[in-house]
Amino acid sequence: MAENVIVLGSGPAGYTAAIYLARADLKPLLITGVQPGGQLTITTDVDNFPGFADGIQGPKLMEEMRRQAERFGTRIMNAEVSSVDLKQQPFVINTSEGSFLTKRVIVSTGASAQWLGLDAETKLMGKGVSGCATCDGFFFRDQEVAVVGGGDTALEEAVFLTRFAKRVTIVHRRDELRASKIVQDKAKENPKIEFAWSKVVVDILDVKAGRVTGLKLKDVRSGDVSKLSCTGVFIAIGHKPNTEIFKGQLELDDKGYVVTKKCTMETSVPGVFAAGDVQDPYYRQAITAAGSGCMAAIDVERSLCVS
Ligand code: NDP
Repeated sequence: MAENVIVLGSGPAGYTAAIYLARADLKPLLITGVQPGGQLTITTDVDNFPGFADGIQGPKLMEEMRRQAERFGTRIMNAEVSSVDLKQQPFVINTSEGSFLTKRVIVSTGASAQWLGLDAETKLMGKGVSGCATCDGFFFRDQEVAVVGGGDTALEEAVFLTRFAKRVTIVHRRDELRASKIVQDKAKENPKIEFAWSKVVVDILDVKAGRVTGLKLKDVRSGDVSKLSCTGVFIAIGHKPNTEIFKGQLELDDKGYVVTKKCTMETSVPGVFAAGDVQDPYYRQAITAAGSGCMAAIDVERSLCVS
């Protein structure tokens, strides 16, 4: 027998959708994916999620969302989705734990931050290495930090960080920025922002000390290696939506994000909805993901009532 609705992904969008679906008595099945809890499980303090005046740890917030979804009857399965067939109703979801038929799907598989791929980057994550200035900038008051990347995100994060840090150095691998002119102007006019042009990060120091003390940079033109002192480094080299399994089945934009219709969370396939970072390249906040998860759940509920 087909499920009413399967939610794919266990970040704020997926869990919020599940809470609403379960409370609507739709008995949702949520499939967590490879990283149960999503991106927030690799952050530390979350200070901007309303309702937690003293902040909350990312993993704890996700655990609470999971418990809340389960409290109303969501069935949660720790499994990875290997493929989907959205070409016919009911839809087919193939996972590491078996195949499922379902009348509706909410795609909330999130996006993965791109990382430099350095060993030190993993080891110093949360100890000075961050992928989110909005989340972690506050901890770098009066300190010197670096931002890696030359796109809109990197420059906007750099400008945001100048509220706290005393110096922000943007490390970019070229001598020309990808960011839009208006964002570039804002960054270039800011007296606290400096640029390290045509430099790549070859190492993040200091794994032995257990915290960030600086970056080892290599000039791509001369090959010269230099050290940049800083206590924090924000990697802003883009995100990749987790949409590989939907290629050829759902309409995706040129960056791979799921396209949803205006004023609804429905995708190009009727009965398939999307929420959270997988369809949002702009805001990418836990609270906006949660909000769109709620919207997708309400869309599902209404579509099942009228069909
Ligand atoms: P982008 O893909 O636009 O930029 C990524 C940046 O990281 C590029 O400068 C790229 O360099 C650099 N980069 C990529 N890989 C590496 C690497 N391995 N090592 C070093 N540098 C690397 O991503 P964004 O997150 O900045 O933006 C995503 C989308 O969101 C864009 O469409 C952007 O316009 C939009 N956005 C809009 C905002 C606004 O309008 N206010 C705010 C934030 C985002 P290179 O340039 O050499 O390729």
